[in-house]
Amino acid sequence: MTEHEHTKTDGLGDMPLAHAGAMPDAAWRAPPRSERMAANKIECNACPVLCQITEGKPGACDRYANQGGVLVRVDPVLLLARAQAGEAAATGELVPFVDAAQADEPASASAVASKLLPSAGLFVTAVGASTTYPDYKPAPFIVASQADGVDMVTVVTEGIFSYCSLKVKIDTDRWLGPEQANVRCKGEVVGHVTTAEYGSQMLSLGGVHHITGGSKKEGRVTVDMMHALGNQGAVEFTIDGGAQVLVQAGRAPVVNGIEESRMRVGCGSATVGIFAEQFQGLVDEVVCVDDHITGVLTEHQAGRCLSMRPAGLKVRGRKSTPGRYFQVANPGTGWGGTDISDPLAIIEAWDPAEAWPGLRLLMVSTTGEHAAWFVLDDQLVPQPAPMPAAVQAIVDRIGENCEPSLCSVLFLGGAGGSLRAGVTDNPVLLTRAIKRALVNVTCGGAPAYVWPGGGITVMADVLRMPANSFGTVPTPAIVAPIEFSMRLADYQALGGHMAYVRPLEQVLRTGAWHHDGAPLARRTLPQPEANAWPLGQPPMLG
Ligand code: SF4
Repeated sequence: MTEHEHTKTDGLGDMPLAHAGAMPDAAWRAPPRSERMAANKIECNACPVLCQITEGKPGACDRYANQGGVLVRVDPVLLLARAQAGEAAATGELVPFVDAAQADEPASASAVASKLLPSAGLFVTAVGASTTYPDYKPAPFIVASQADGVDMVTVVTEGIFSYCSLKVKIDTDRWLGPEQANVRCKGEVVGHVTTAEYGSQMLSLGGVHHITGGSKKEGRVTVDMMHALGNQGAVEFTIDGGAQVLVQAGRAPVVNGIEESRMRVGCGSATVGIFAEQFQGLVDEVVCVDDHITGVLTEHQAGRCLSMRPAGLKVRGRKSTPGRYFQVANPGTGWGGTDISDPLAIIEAWDPAEAWPGLRLLMVSTTGEHAAWFVLDDQLVPQPAPMPAAVQAIVDRIGENCEPSLCSVLFLGGAGGSLRAGVTDNPVLLTRAIKRALVNVTCGGAPAYVWPGGGITVMADVLRMPANSFGTVPTPAIVAPIEFSMRLADYQALGGHMAYVRPLEQVLRTGAWHHDGAPLARRTLPQPEANAWPLGQPPMLG
């Protein structure tokens, strides 16, 4: 056993750990020095740009700087504190890491173990953690801790993502543009309109073809847009052949200058179905106008179940099934996501054999924002009339059942590349372990969905991530936090960098294992209530 290895018998399992502080290769991190580099400069090798940074200045991304001839990560590394265990620590104050000399002080295994428990409610996120990408060196933080008596390890690194995008869900019926239409930011194409979902329009933004595959300006605008949206800022887009839309995660979209307020209760068919019984006796016909599926109550299954008298109304568009019509108008920003402002425009005819003078007709949109009341005259022509209070109450209830219209922004990134070398020297084992649900992947402590199939393609809601989790580098690429948590035994089994595993308490004192380019300080914030604790135990290997 070397001086750096200890057989752990006090809670971390019987693993050889180099947690005494002196990493096997503390100088390993030092980048190769260019012969022609000026004496007052140092090279940053935290991304392929390899900035040569003058003393007292930051690098091109403002994330690293030359401080007195030493390369430092200028932002603090962010820790999360579990409410019941780490409240006192979650002050948000900056706490400096001790200097390298102290970091190399050896500590006994028992001393380390005695300090483990008070910190058990802390989680080291990759926000501000620095990176050892794009090379083969272990991740900056490989942290051992206990969770509910189980020895766990978390591998923490900032990832440099060239392959990444944002999936944006915009809760609105209003038509933003044709599917596949280009989405532009500052005139550059940065994405496209993708498949609409139930009550929401969807955009796919960023991605490698815009980041690296277009002009230099397109790449730059794309990562700046992703950086702003990912950090919960607002970005304005124009859609070719469509609308102008202002998007911000957690806020209502603004479409053509008008702030959206309601997400529809359902499609037109669903709306007449949900409220059919409440309408009975108060109306003779209800048409719920919807760009996708317009509902006609008396013909609809819901009206038939209530034995409603057929009203003889024929609407425009293509009949799908009884009382359900497609394409009653063109898409737009009017009633129910159509281009109409006069609802009677979708009425083609009344069947005189079924309709009758005095018939009471409600026309309403899927959000209840638009509603009009008509009564048929002797010529079976709908005449506007004051809406009865009882009918208005149902229209109001449609509105009440609409959720607030919001923009949701999900980060989608491929962590299947050389980032894995920071975790293990046999990267495919990490990929396989993740697919077997042995590894909990988080982004800034927020839960990440891992897509099935090959690679490590993760997706996280930016609103569940800490504020300002994202950065950029001018390669161009997005910098995003990623953490891999698993049982310590599983980490060893997948070929992890065991010599770089350090107990949480030591990490709190000394920071990242590499001294060159490591963060200077840490700060601790409360774990968001909506997120599960990242160190929940995955199943046992075997
Ligand atoms: S852009 Fe930033 S991370 Fe990349 S080399 Fe320059 S300072 Fe380092």
